[in-house]
Amino acid sequence: MEEIWVFIEQDDGVIEESSLEVLSKAWELADKGGYGVSAILMGSGLADKARDVGRYGAHKVYYIDDANLRSYSSELYPMVMEWLIKKYDPNTVLFSATRNGRDLAGRIAVKFKSGLLAHVIELGFDENGDLVGKVPGFGGNIAAVVKCVDSRPQLATVTPGVFEAKDVGAEAELKVVTPDMELKPRNIRIVSKERGEYLDISKSERVVVAGMGTGGKLDMVRELAKLLNADIGVTRPLADIGVAPRDIQIGSTGVTLKSKLAFILGASGAPHFTSGIKDCGVVITVNKDPEAPIKDYSDYLVVGDIFEVIPRLIKLLRGEEIA
Ligand SMILES: Cc1cc2nc3c(=O)[nH]c(=O)nc-3n(C[C@H](O)[C@H](O)[C@H](O)COP(=O)(O)OP(=O)(O)OC[C@H]3O[C@@H](n4cnc5c(N)ncnc54)[C@H](O)[C@@H]3O)c2cc1C
Repeated sequence: MEEIWVFIEQDDGVIEESSLEVLSKAWELADKGGYGVSAILMGSGLADKARDVGRYGAHKVYYIDDANLRSYSSELYPMVMEWLIKKYDPNTVLFSATRNGRDLAGRIAVKFKSGLLAHVIELGFDENGDLVGKVPGFGGNIAAVVKCVDSRPQLATVTPGVFEAKDVGAEAELKVVTPDMELKPRNIRIVSKERGEYLDISKSERVVVAGMGTGGKLDMVRELAKLLNADIGVTRPLADIGVAPRDIQIGSTGVTLKSKLAFILGASGAPHFTSGIKDCGVVITVNKDPEAPIKDYSDYLVVGDIFEVIPRLIKLLRGEEIA
């Protein structure tokens, strides 16, 4: 039986949730297309976790145990993955489009000269068994349908948050595999490892999102977020210019929100951005342009200058009088 593989990312034993989203999607696809699903987990001392992972939608879990695989390595992980693919010949390999998932998928695509559907927001197989994905394209103005033709293994990275991780109770067979190679880093040495302050806003109940209309002045945005008991997100240009970390960028190349309330300040509503807010509950936007495309994604649109509207709203929320 042909197999769909899903790379399960972990760091120090902590499984990356979006990998499980991809695994559950693979399980759904396999059910329709008659494929087997295997999860690929590399790490150290994680055999029990490997069994748990399988519950999200795998027939098999290939687990590679080695102390040098405790955390992602651009050197060792691609080597092991290449070896596994050559040995077991999967039809398709899927990755979550996290930083590490993108790094690994790109390297595998080069090694096998395979097609890679990058950052897909939808996924399926056509009648020829070619992997088909949807990717926001041309500056985000269209959702392009892309596919891997005459390419094996077929590869795709999946935008985190677009599918749901479901414990389907699958009883996966655990296959502990030992690659016949020396797993010693040659070119990369970890000098020190520090974790920055990271917030997973894909699960936040309320988010205040700053767009370029804020001019990158996030103090006011932070103040509003604090009063609403909300987290902060940004559009990509603000992450590009470095006023906020990439981790809180929303959209097709960032996080997909599922919040009950999204407050969007000075964002135009480009498709690359709106794909990240389509699953939100109530969307309230403030924009000085009444025709900005964001209006089509908003439950409430306040037409006005953020620098006038937001300070007034902040005063109201603080219980202060407004003129
Ligand atoms: C391959 C690719 C991937 C991309 N991925 C992403 C992604 O993941 N996320 C993302 O966000 N973008 C992404 N983009 C970029 C995206 O296409 C848009 O360029 C971006 O979303 C625009 O950001 P913005 O709305 O903040 O800025 P702008 O488009 O410049 O909009 C600013 C808005 O603010 C309003 N405004 C300005 N001043 C005020 C004021 N004082 N008061 C009220 N309103 C005001 C304006 O009317 C305007 O509507 C991607 C692009 C490409 C090509």
